[in-house]
Amino acid sequence: MYKVKYVDLAIKDTILKEEILDSVNTILTSGQFILGEVVKRFEENIARYLGVRYAIGVNSGTDALSLCLRAFGIGDGDEVITTSNSFLATASAIIETNAKPVFVDISDDLNIDPELIEEKITTKTKAIMPVHLSGKPAKMNEILKVARKYNLKVIEDAAQSIGTEYFSKKTGSIGDVGCFSMHPLKTLNACGDAGLITTNDKELYLKLKQFRNLGLKNRNESDVWGYNSRLDAIQAAVLDIKLKYIDSWIEKRRQNAKFYIDNLKDTLIVPKEEEYEKHSFHTFVIQTENRDVFQKHLEENKVETKIHYPIPIHKQKAASYLNYTDNALPKTCLAAKRILSLPIYQDLTDVQLEYVIEKIQSFFPQPIEI
Ligand SMILES: *Cc1c(COP(=O)(O)O)cnc(C)c1O
Repeated sequence: MYKVKYVDLAIKDTILKEEILDSVNTILTSGQFILGEVVKRFEENIARYLGVRYAIGVNSGTDALSLCLRAFGIGDGDEVITTSNSFLATASAIIETNAKPVFVDISDDLNIDPELIEEKITTKTKAIMPVHLSGKPAKMNEILKVARKYNLKVIEDAAQSIGTEYFSKKTGSIGDVGCFSMHPLKTLNACGDAGLITTNDKELYLKLKQFRNLGLKNRNESDVWGYNSRLDAIQAAVLDIKLKYIDSWIEKRRQNAKFYIDNLKDTLIVPKEEEYEKHSFHTFVIQTENRDVFQKHLEENKVETKIHYPIPIHKQKAASYLNYTDNALPKTCLAAKRILSLPIYQDLTDVQLEYVIEKIQSFFPQPIEI
């Protein structure tokens, strides 16, 4: 038994659970299980929360990404610039549309390094897909500047960054489109798979609505081929209820992060927050030498940790045809050896947080007293 689990996804017997059960009950009685009023209400509420005109509920974060690529007409032979330091889904959405992911190395913030984008742009490049990994915003101003220069679309992979802010704007509202995942492991999470696309572009919004529902523009007519990526009413209802709590959860995660940072900043590399950012701490990623031994030490002391992600995407066997050399993307490869995600979820108690700190400090040699 862990003393501190990495995350606890069970919904406890609280008001939240009562609210969810009530809304599920209403949906069961209504018989409207896919899309419909409940999904529409959630889309309106989350659009308001994120400061965008339109939100489109879809089946998953991966679908959100690939539907956006399709909506921009990206496919066969096209290139999309992104990061290898991400969850596999970022690249698989690109590959799914028959386009090619082109990976750019990261900077110290563990996100795509905007300075390295321009040299990777070719005549085939159609879009940039930055990831706000762990809830830390990518450097969007610099990214948008390159994108405008070369007339590229910017698709934000905001799967891990609900509630993250960058110069007072929420991530997902900054590029041409934003893509969110509401997978159970994300901060705003459904009781199953769910995803969301955000945009301010009405034409794109209408297109994406058709795309998620087999290209249908009404009950019987279609002028494009689409896909089935509709959001379930029960998931939308769960998300709409959780949306009321999201800011308080993010606030608690930020407090947990602050406690870790205050206690660990002299021991490990801790995440940084610039004054123009609000980090939402989807994960709390530290970096250290001897990561594997350190992780084992925490495991033996009943603290569960994870690595997001131990194998960079370009090093996956599935990506071998892309022919990256061993010394490509050196910062991404180095980070993969040093990163470790500590438990950060909102229900952690003070006792648990202090326990984690104690067990971390017991691993590192004490500063020598003179
Ligand atoms: C979770 C995640 C996705 C995919 O979302 P799913 O809902 O699981 O399809 C995409 N990108 C990133 C960075 C993610 O963390």
